[in-house]
Amino acid sequence: AKQNGRNQYAFYFEDLKKDSKRLLLLEAELRKSIQTKEFNINYQPKISIVNREIIGVEALVRWENNKLGNVSPSEFIPFAEDTGLIIPLSEVILEKVCLDIMEWRSKGIQHLSVSVNIASLHFQQDDFIERINAILMQYNCSPSQFELELTERTVMKDAQGIVNKLIKLKNMGFKISIDDFGTGYSSLSYINRFPLNYLKIDSSFVQQITSLKDKQAIVDSIIMMAHRLHLKVVAEGVETKDQVKLLKEMDCDIIQGYYYSRPIPSSELLDFIELWEILKQE
Ligand code: C2E
Ligand code: CA
Ligand code: CA
Ligand code: CA
Repeated sequence: AKQNGRNQYAFYFEDLKKDSKRLLLLEAELRKSIQTKEFNINYQPKISIVNREIIGVEALVRWENNKLGNVSPSEFIPFAEDTGLIIPLSEVILEKVCLDIMEWRSKGIQHLSVSVNIASLHFQQDDFIERINAILMQYNCSPSQFELELTERTVMKDAQGIVNKLIKLKNMGFKISIDDFGTGYSSLSYINRFPLNYLKIDSSFVQQITSLKDKQAIVDSIIMMAHRLHLKVVAEGVETKDQVKLLKEMDCDIIQGYYYSRPIPSSELLDFIELWEILKQE
């Protein structure tokens, strides 16, 4: 047993060394990549259930690093939040989005709305509004083309300070979404105090509506409540035709998910938009 214990300890120690090595590498590479702006943005279309128009796209960052390979945003975004790197990283992401918007414009696509994910720590900065505004102005982009996705956790942090910030942003023309709705505090009481446009129902609910009656009931009542508060509802993570059908019956407004398209690079998005004009008739 003693022998065994020692081995276990040795394994544990090896694992620990590997983990901390990876974290050190991750931090060093993340810093470098922020300097060299070595990130790409993919875009996932959001489709209106009512008229099948593309009502906008969500920008999702991608990182392919020569030492680490493809690193998932689910790994490096939380890490960037812990280390504070999320602030310069988010500014690089916003710049890249603005560059893509400029390119779309040159190709005749003028008003495609883009959602960007806003991390808590970034949103909490006192100069958050001034700095994103400065980036948009630098690239001649209008806030009215942007939607900011904030999680429930972010808006619950300091309710009064947040309300003022959101009102300012809305007056500037930004649209505001609550992301991952249902996974955080799931408190419906606060949302009527915030100037919101969209509620995004988390994929963990959406993906179970066809198999679990209680999830279906939850989604159904979220949609009803949101409509009473004049919010549009986006269902995210939609993968099947059955899910689309059920969401339509429940009066959901917008669909986002692999069913229509995975997140794709800007050049593929232009092809998608062109094709969609033909396909949406069917
Ligand atoms: P999120 O904001 O909830 O983004 C939705 C995630 O679901 C994305 O994962 C997207 O690729 C994935 N997804 C979309 N449709 C489907 C589907 O039908 N089925 C399944 N299984 N998944 C689907 P991704 O790109 O890996 O991003 C993960 C998370 O990382 C995001 O969750 C967001 O919290 C964060 N993130 C991604 N890009 C950014 C960014 O540019 N800035 C910030 N601050 N966070 C980001
Ligand atoms: Ca999001
Ligand atoms: Ca989400
Ligand atoms: Ca999520």
